Amino acid sequence: MFKKIIFLFVVAFLATEKGAAQTTFSAETFYKHDSYLASDKLEGRLAGTKGNNQAATYIKKYFKKFGLKKFNGDYYQPFKIFIKPDINKMKSDSVSTQNVVGYIEGSDENLKKEFIVIGAHYDHWGWGGKGSGSKKKDTLAIHNGADDNASGVSALLSILEKFHENKITTKRSIIFISFSGEEEGLLGSKYFVNHLPVDKSSVKVMMNMDMVGRLNDKKELYMGGAGTFPDGVELMKKLGEGSGLSPIVFAGDVGGSDHVTFYKNDISAIGLHTGGHPQYHTPEDDSALINSEGAVLVCQYIYNALTSIANYEQTLSFIKQN
Ligand SMILES: [Zn+2]
Repeated sequence: MFKKIIFLFVVAFLATEKGAAQTTFSAETFYKHDSYLASDKLEGRLAGTKGNNQAATYIKKYFKKFGLKKFNGDYYQPFKIFIKPDINKMKSDSVSTQNVVGYIEGSDENLKKEFIVIGAHYDHWGWGGKGSGSKKKDTLAIHNGADDNASGVSALLSILEKFHENKITTKRSIIFISFSGEEEGLLGSKYFVNHLPVDKSSVKVMMNMDMVGRLNDKKELYMGGAGTFPDGVELMKKLGEGSGLSPIVFAGDVGGSDHVTFYKNDISAIGLHTGGHPQYHTPEDDSALINSEGAVLVCQYIYNALTSIANYEQTLSFIKQN
């Protein structure tokens, strides 16, 4: 009997250990976030519109729920942008919008002064039309942007939830941010980098997720900029082992989303995505086409990358790529 109790105890302990090491993401949760953000109710989340603000409110709700700390007493970082007045439904050329941002403080007395940023833009092209980035400019229809980039925000919230649930702290601090105004020219990330709530030199690596919801049959997760910090390419390849994914890792080839703003400011930056598709920047980029099961693998991989980088033994220095 005693032996049996010991045995059960050991099994329970191993199970707990396994549980602690393996975090499982939920396809349902991912889809819940994506389908809300990409619903017609939010009308394509164009910066400066009601739908854009509703998306920000939604993100803020989860930032608060999952215990992110605020900078300067607010999750919102408001800014103004100028929009071409011929974009549908825009009455004024100057609109107010906001980044949504918070952080988890690191656990190491010294390294907590360094910050890793994980981000995903939440804005999209609204109703499209002339002056927008739509590929179907003649069609006025809601551009739901389920992949671009409700998917990145869903990954951001899923990863944050995992930190909260598992009470994970890393040595370095982590900033979670959802940008607005990306589509009009990386405006949210530019505003953030020009108005950082921390010293610029303390921001070590930025990881950006833009279009991560359409994992293909070959399970390819693409990333540019992995060579912008020491041994980054090796790390990102190694994390692919046993992940169920085939990471396509580029040292340079930094890309064209918000992480580029960081890179241009000499901050190491990786951009992650699951590839292009015919619905890109059309009204057909809908939640029904999102691969939520695939997104679970993507979230797990990015979560592992984020915690690895935030606990990196080596000094995180910027490496310029061609
Ligand atoms: Zn995008």
